[in-house]
Amino acid sequence: MLKNVYDVAVIGAGPAGCKTAELAAKAGLKVLLLEEHEEIGRPVQCTGIDSHRILPLSGLGKEIVMNVVHKARFCVKNSFLELDSPKPVYVIDRHKLDKGIAKLAAKQGADMITGSRFIGFERANPLTIKTSTGVYKAKMIVGADGPNSTVAKRANIELPKDYVIGYQETVNDDFSENIVELWFGKNITPDFFAWVVPENKDWARVGIASKTKPVEYFRNFMKSRFGIDYRKKDVLGGVIRYGIIKTSVADNVLLVGDAACHVKPYSGGGIIYGLIAARYAAQACTLAVNSNRFDKGFLFEAYDRKWKKELLPGIRRGLVLHKLIHAMPDWMLALSLNVSKLFKPSLSKLDMDLLFNQ
Ligand SMILES: Cc1cc2nc3c(=O)[nH]c(=O)nc-3n(C[C@H](O)[C@H](O)[C@H](O)COP(=O)(O)OP(=O)(O)OC[C@H]3O[C@@H](n4cnc5c(N)ncnc54)[C@H](O)[C@@H]3O)c2cc1C
Repeated sequence: MLKNVYDVAVIGAGPAGCKTAELAAKAGLKVLLLEEHEEIGRPVQCTGIDSHRILPLSGLGKEIVMNVVHKARFCVKNSFLELDSPKPVYVIDRHKLDKGIAKLAAKQGADMITGSRFIGFERANPLTIKTSTGVYKAKMIVGADGPNSTVAKRANIELPKDYVIGYQETVNDDFSENIVELWFGKNITPDFFAWVVPENKDWARVGIASKTKPVEYFRNFMKSRFGIDYRKKDVLGGVIRYGIIKTSVADNVLLVGDAACHVKPYSGGGIIYGLIAARYAAQACTLAVNSNRFDKGFLFEAYDRKWKKELLPGIRRGLVLHKLIHAMPDWMLALSLNVSKLFKPSLSKLDMDLLFNQ
């Protein structure tokens, strides 16, 4: 092994990057994990609602769980549909999630540098990786740097164009701890939905996403749902990119997590898909390093084809559902919601991650 040369440099210490780093290091690779922020998991840009899969996939325990919900209430104007979830749905502490997986990566021997921003790379053998804290050398790069991936840009990987901007405040009121509210309709937001996700009976993460003016839509929603005056604590926002990436690989590079649009198009949730894809990313890195093959064709077979086999059906179904919901006028959406009540038992069984019966 060349001295001071990493097998893999993972850019971005969100859940997808940390999990890829952990599993690649566990497989025996020399891994460097770079994060532009000083502290892993901050700032939080996420609501943190995820299916039961979050615990086994993250490798963490209930310490990341802040609340457990079992019901989703879908709302369109005055129409409501309440669905029970047969499995628990967790409201998590996103900071603890990222930090927890980063610790697992460190435990497996991954080197970690925070406050280090990836700038670009040169295709030498090994690659020269330029960052705000200096130059590093690695055989390959994993771009886990989120929805506006710099790695994708530098590697000339085209990202899907569709995105919405999310805005959220944590709000004080009386909440049912067990119910998540999802509000749809053109008057709420034309492109996505608004959510009320309880942390406990006093505080909920209330947010909205739209292609433009998310704060304006949020203010209008708050006025109709909570009135003018309300107490709030955390405020956050961020981009949710969704769609199907043509290829998530280039020579010596692969993308994982939001960087590769491992995102459910109907909900914007990306943690579960990102963690699933991280397993494939780590396996592909191991295969590439062990066979000394880093070309695009090899990575396509070892990675792109494999994650797509598992995740693409769900993403495709999600895109259809997303387009259908947002093409309908409000009256039709309300009617569909009312008709859906007839199918409540089957709908309650739908898998919230993969959109088919679990
Ligand atoms: C408002 C909002 C609410 C959401 N709610 C949910 C939810 O309830 N459930 C859910 O599953 N998903 C949710 N998501 C989506 C979820 O946050 C993402 O899918 C998830 O964070 C993706 O993880 P990741 O590891 O791929 O990327 P990220 O978590 O975005 O991590 C990328 C990391 O890369 C770092 N980085 C970026 N550029 C560089 C660079 N040049 N150099 C070094 N480091 C860099 C960033 O600082 C960051 O730490 C939400 C998103 C938004 C915006």
